[in-house]
Amino acid sequence: MTVDAVQRWQAAPLPWHSATYDQFRRVLSDDRVPHALLLSGSAGAGIEHLAALVAGTLLCHSLQSSPCGLCDGCRMAQAGSHGDYRWLEPEAGKRALGIDAVRSAVSFIQQTPAFGERKVMVIAPAHAMTIAAANALLKTLEEPPGNGILVLVSSRPGDLPATVRSRCQRVQTPAPSADQALAWLRGQCDNMDSQTVSAALDAADGAVMTAMEWLQNGELAAMTELRRQLSGLLQGTSAPVSTVAALKDVELELILSTLLTLIEQALQEGDSDHLKSQRDLFELHDQVRGWLGAIRRGVNLARDTLLIEIAQRCQ
Ligand SMILES: [Zn+2]
Repeated sequence: MTVDAVQRWQAAPLPWHSATYDQFRRVLSDDRVPHALLLSGSAGAGIEHLAALVAGTLLCHSLQSSPCGLCDGCRMAQAGSHGDYRWLEPEAGKRALGIDAVRSAVSFIQQTPAFGERKVMVIAPAHAMTIAAANALLKTLEEPPGNGILVLVSSRPGDLPATVRSRCQRVQTPAPSADQALAWLRGQCDNMDSQTVSAALDAADGAVMTAMEWLQNGELAAMTELRRQLSGLLQGTSAPVSTVAALKDVELELILSTLLTLIEQALQEGDSDHLKSQRDLFELHDQVRGWLGAIRRGVNLARDTLLIEIAQRCQ
């Protein structure tokens, strides 16, 4: 069983998704499941986990209220070989979901189910679809096939075309409370000391799945260093040239998204020691958000020029 296959089949909800999942089970037992669901919520709060659980529940043959893990439907979904289940995401190393991938997925969902009652397709993240890809999906959303169910996952549903959003039943999923996140993460990383676990959660700004990934992949030290470098830059206490040099191997998208988080934290805290005025911070926030949006749409920005400009604005 591959790691990917395991992540695309889940037997139980994350603690903070319990109520949302219970609601879905009621809808399922009343046979009122819509043809398209849009699960939205904070990035790094495990929306993909819930999508995998919903898909597994729809594919299970046991007629129980959650995936039994024993029937043929569950076994094939667990092994990543279920012919009626597809998980659509950008190819490794790519940010966007293009029209060809979506067209192929659309033809999949329109076929008759081969093993059970339904075909299920998860699109994660749905906001990765290009405009052309989203348009290719639109017809299926307008005239849904009888047995096909689409589960769209997005932490940025506002980036989806309104025409797509309006044809899905929107489910806003909650993020964990700080206590829930810490307790869950400690349970997942029980071989690590609790200080390291808390530090990861702080560094990830509460995004519990992101924190777990850093802990499991040994990336916490690198992320802590990135935040240290960017905090220094933001507070005007480190030299721009040395920061730019220190960040030369870090992806620009990661630098900008981390910087955005740090600016948002500074704005929330109304940090009086901060050298920048609130107004400067707001301006920088909007600028960084604009650049980040451009990169996510596939625009190539000149990396060093951008970093030096950020550094100069923070001086
Ligand atoms: Zn089952």
